[in-house]
Amino acid sequence: LAPLDLFVIGGGSGGVAAARRAASYGASVGICEASRYGGTCVVRGCVPKKLMHYAASVPHAVRVARDYGWELSDPRLRWAQLQAVRNRETARLEGVYQSLLDKAGVERLTGRGRILGRDGDAFVVEVGEQRRLARRVLIAVGARAEQPEIPGLELAVTSDAVVEGEIPFPRRVAVLGAGYIGVELAGILNGCGAEVTVVLRGDQPLRGFDDDLRSDLTEQMTRGGIRMLPLTRVDGLERTASGIAVRGPHVPVEADLVIAALGRKPKPNTASLGLAELGVRLTANGAAYVDVGYETNVKGIFAVGDCCDHGGNALDGAGFDLTPIAIAEGRAFAERQFNQNPQVVRYDTVPTAVFSEPELGTVGLSEARARALGYDVAIYRTRFKPMRYTLGDHHRRTLMKLVVDRDGDRVLGCHMVGDDAAEIIQGLAVALTAGATKAQFDETVALHPTAAEEFVTMYQPAAS
Ligand SMILES: Cc1cc2nc3c(=O)[nH]c(=O)nc-3n(C[C@H](O)[C@H](O)[C@H](O)COP(=O)(O)OP(=O)(O)OC[C@H]3O[C@@H](n4cnc5c(N)ncnc54)[C@H](O)[C@@H]3O)c2cc1C
Repeated sequence: LAPLDLFVIGGGSGGVAAARRAASYGASVGICEASRYGGTCVVRGCVPKKLMHYAASVPHAVRVARDYGWELSDPRLRWAQLQAVRNRETARLEGVYQSLLDKAGVERLTGRGRILGRDGDAFVVEVGEQRRLARRVLIAVGARAEQPEIPGLELAVTSDAVVEGEIPFPRRVAVLGAGYIGVELAGILNGCGAEVTVVLRGDQPLRGFDDDLRSDLTEQMTRGGIRMLPLTRVDGLERTASGIAVRGPHVPVEADLVIAALGRKPKPNTASLGLAELGVRLTANGAAYVDVGYETNVKGIFAVGDCCDHGGNALDGAGFDLTPIAIAEGRAFAERQFNQNPQVVRYDTVPTAVFSEPELGTVGLSEARARALGYDVAIYRTRFKPMRYTLGDHHRRTLMKLVVDRDGDRVLGCHMVGDDAAEIIQGLAVALTAGATKAQFDETVALHPTAAEEFVTMYQPAAS
């Protein structure tokens, strides 16, 4: 059998993007997926989570509607129906991913893949009973959260149960950990009507994000009804007659559902792929080291997405385990290998959002990170009650912040907590990618009346 030009292990965001792009240049491509095509983003990540975020924001919208004269009864959520329609949509998308691969002429296998070794200058890939030869193998197997050793942690579920599973509605929820997934799930379940407690080791959620955003969001989450327990160690979980008890010096909390979202380093799914046998270098965490073209130290073996070290870019502390990064890396790999186009991915202006209540959006450097890198920064900050809430009594506020390099005037970071933060920050990411200066922000005419216009009308620095 003639070797394929490329075999991709993992049919998630990165693997599918790479396979399709490579095939579009005439490469012969095979792919395998152990679980469901579409991967984490489509099946148990971004998509179902965002649909649930929309569902959870409805009671707030109803409260605001009353300020405007609408007469509405209290909304009641059919939780089982939400889970069913959400899963119908993710199943539809799974089918879309499969048909995109089929239309691109990619040979699609189902099963767990691993590299058995070499045959001449090709690699032998095994998927169940089947074998394929390929000149290049792309590892795109994603990652999973590492679970620390806490007694009784098996009583907790991960985010998978909440965003992919169909579970009874949990009246009382404890979320262990306050990385972005923990914060998002807390907001979703609180919005859907559960009593939510977030137990976090640190003093604030969302380590690595700008500190002003972290404290502002903590306040708004608390005012929105989420109980935050900072600086709290969890010693164990125990089943009780009425639920699950979270044990520790400053707890206990009792809940019907405990979600372990401990925000530890994700553990890439790179074990048992045959990589060690080939001599592929992995980080202590299991991510494959790759160069600027996503090639590992073993010629012909490549890695993209959550299972790689993002060409060393992840080492500076920024979280790049994101769908658009996996897609961009997959495409850049294919461009370089099959179109002689040495495309590179920009890691310095990656926008990211937390779909909390309210949302948080950010692009570029946080104030602390900019200072740590030696920038002399000017900070511009504003916090206000958005016009939408002026007719009623709401605690929701919007915080906006710019981090500007005094030397050269470049805007290094844009940060926001408030309604539509994710949508607004995506637009500003274009400006940062283009290298916009504060003077250009000031020159930009405001779009009135919006919340976003505040980003171009912050004239006075807030702090030195
Ligand atoms: C709850 C949650 C919410 C998220 N929200 C966001 C968000 O809002 N925005 C965002 O950008 N990112 C979000 N992410 C992260 C995003 O989903 C990932 O960064 C992205 O899916 C990574 O793509 P990938 O291709 O590297 O891996 P994945 O999408 O994880 O795909 C890897 C695939 O490989 C398969 N696989 C593993 N081992 C094998 C094997 N040996 N053989 C065959 N197949 C194998 C897996 O089954 C999986 O389908 C979220 C993640 C989670 C868990």
